[in-house]
Amino acid sequence: MDVQMSVQSRSPQSHRKSDPLAILALTGILIVALWSALLFEQRRNYEDVSRHAWSDAAGVARTFEEHVARTFNNIDAVLLVLRQAWVDDRSKFETKVRIMQAAYDDSLLVQIAVIDANGKLAYSNLDPNAAPVNLSDREHFRVHRDRSADELYISKPVKGRVSGRYSIQLTRPILTHGDHFGGVLVISLNPSYFSGFFGSLDLGDGGSIALIGLDGIVRVRGIDLKLDESAIGKVVPSDRPFMNADAADVGNFQAVSVIDGVKRRISYRQMNEYPMVVAVTKATEAVFAEHERLWLHYKWGAAVVSVLLFAAGAWLARAVRLQYLLKAHLLVANDSLRTLNTIAIQAGAELGDKFYKALELGCKHLGVEMGVVGALYDNAYVVDKCYSTVFTDLKEGDELELPAHHSRDMFNSHDVVIIRRGSQSHSASLLSNEVFEHECFIGTSIWIDDTLYGALGFYSTKPYAQEFDDSDREFVRMLGRWVGSSIAEDRAVKKLTALATTDSLTGARSRGYFTAAVDDEINRAHRYRRPLALILVDLDLFKRVNDSYGHHAGDETLKRIAEIVQGLLRTTDLFARLGGEEFAILMPETQEHEAAIVAERLRSCVSNTKIETLSGDVRITISAGIAQLKTGEDFKTIYNRADSALYKAKSLGRNRVESAGSSTVIGV
Ligand code: GH3
Ligand code: MG
Ligand code: MG
Repeated sequence: MDVQMSVQSRSPQSHRKSDPLAILALTGILIVALWSALLFEQRRNYEDVSRHAWSDAAGVARTFEEHVARTFNNIDAVLLVLRQAWVDDRSKFETKVRIMQAAYDDSLLVQIAVIDANGKLAYSNLDPNAAPVNLSDREHFRVHRDRSADELYISKPVKGRVSGRYSIQLTRPILTHGDHFGGVLVISLNPSYFSGFFGSLDLGDGGSIALIGLDGIVRVRGIDLKLDESAIGKVVPSDRPFMNADAADVGNFQAVSVIDGVKRRISYRQMNEYPMVVAVTKATEAVFAEHERLWLHYKWGAAVVSVLLFAAGAWLARAVRLQYLLKAHLLVANDSLRTLNTIAIQAGAELGDKFYKALELGCKHLGVEMGVVGALYDNAYVVDKCYSTVFTDLKEGDELELPAHHSRDMFNSHDVVIIRRGSQSHSASLLSNEVFEHECFIGTSIWIDDTLYGALGFYSTKPYAQEFDDSDREFVRMLGRWVGSSIAEDRAVKKLTALATTDSLTGARSRGYFTAAVDDEINRAHRYRRPLALILVDLDLFKRVNDSYGHHAGDETLKRIAEIVQGLLRTTDLFARLGGEEFAILMPETQEHEAAIVAERLRSCVSNTKIETLSGDVRITISAGIAQLKTGEDFKTIYNRADSALYKAKSLGRNRVESAGSSTVIGV
């Protein structure tokens, strides 16, 4: 039987790859969507926080501007009053100064002084007898002397020569005789008065307020609720929006401070009446601290969700992919089995051939070199040596001996067993086995309805050549089922055949079988001119056994006699029950006198045997008639001659053997 099989090789590539990829892509899209939504929301929140910070700062700037303007207006009013006093009546000046001083907080007024037209100190409330030091180098003095306008001038911060502390000086020129320059009236203000305003505000960590001249020089700066003296007198960079003459009077911007290097959001207002700008700032970091903290949490949350999503997606994609792989493998396996069936039908389904093909196909499908199949029978089936090992003389229920270390695993389990070399429990037995130096094994015992039919296994001898997977498992399971059903079918056929050819009571061949076989034997004897003898045996007075002991005892007797006869015959002799208590023995290669010896032995054995039945011991005898095949004779005639001899034996008193006798027998 040499049928070419088209078995697909391992690792079929026909599975659909798109679905696992789609799952992964969907997971990716979900993750991207999650992050997009998160970042979008974060951006919105950021802008909200930012807007609030600006509007807070702008509100504070407006209030601060009002505060500064009110202070400057008041001080200017004082300047005007005192100047008038100075010009009108100097003797009352001191008194007026005290009144003014009393009206104001100490924290505001540092000094009230008068500089004469030559730049000499003419009066100081701190020291009425002060020496007339020359202050003509002071900025305010120069400004007023060189300018004829009667204007309030706000000087750059000046560090006191004695106190060492900064002050801001508001000055007005003293004009005598119309427009004639007569000196400068100076009121020095404490910068901390302005920064003190700050105490009632919360601008957060690093928040500040500042009063800056349009000349870029910082007059006052307060930070973290305190006056920042170090900043006073510093020049702000010229790129600040409010330094630009064309810039709007009110605005916002963000910048890194030149004073402390902190990044801030700045809201500024240019004052209406004075060349000053108020600036209120919030440190960017402080503004967004809460926002950052919150969104860090959200991002961590999203990261965890992303990882979980990805893991779930990957797991699902893998599961689907495996499912496809398995399905593809099973399709191939199914194909293989269909091929097997086709082959089996084509080949006329000899069981051994079926096994051989199953093993060959299994080896190809699994990519291994060796397979073994065993069927449980009274007889063993020889399968091709290359692929299998023969199990001899096994009976149902026997444990298979080969290969012992695997068979135990196989038979303990109804399912497919996979064993790899090196797995703890098997390594020792595997390594010590000389026959199967296999690296891995896959096999199954074959059960149908709790009946063991055999076993099927495959081996790979290459080191780790193969990792058997779920689809291999399913393939072996299916192949096992196929082999099992082949065995079952074969068993059934054999059973039916036996039933049809055997007499159920005595175990002798049936009459039908006998008459069919006898013609073949007669033809053969004629063709080869070989002797052939027929013995007919009939029990003597058997009716009496039935009558005395009952029908059942009669049956027992028939059975026992058949056993005795069978035991004394050769395997080539054909022993059959022709009906009732009449038997026939067809003896090839046997002459009449040889048959007579056998018949005599049977007769004597039966007559000497006490047959034990439930109804008591039976003693019985037999009579036999013998004939040897004559030239040209058929079964009917030889039977009649043997029957006549039997009749003769009966009539001569039974318990006898009579031969037909003839001179024309063949095969002498
Ligand atoms: P003889 O042959 O010696 O002349 O006497 P016989 O009593 O044996 O005579 P006969 O052949 O007429 O009787 C055969 C009897 O065998 C009849 C029948 O009751 C009995 N018999 C036939 N078949 C069976 C059987 O299967 N079981 C039992 N118990 N009895 C059977
Ligand atoms: Mg009889
Ligand atoms: Mg009879």
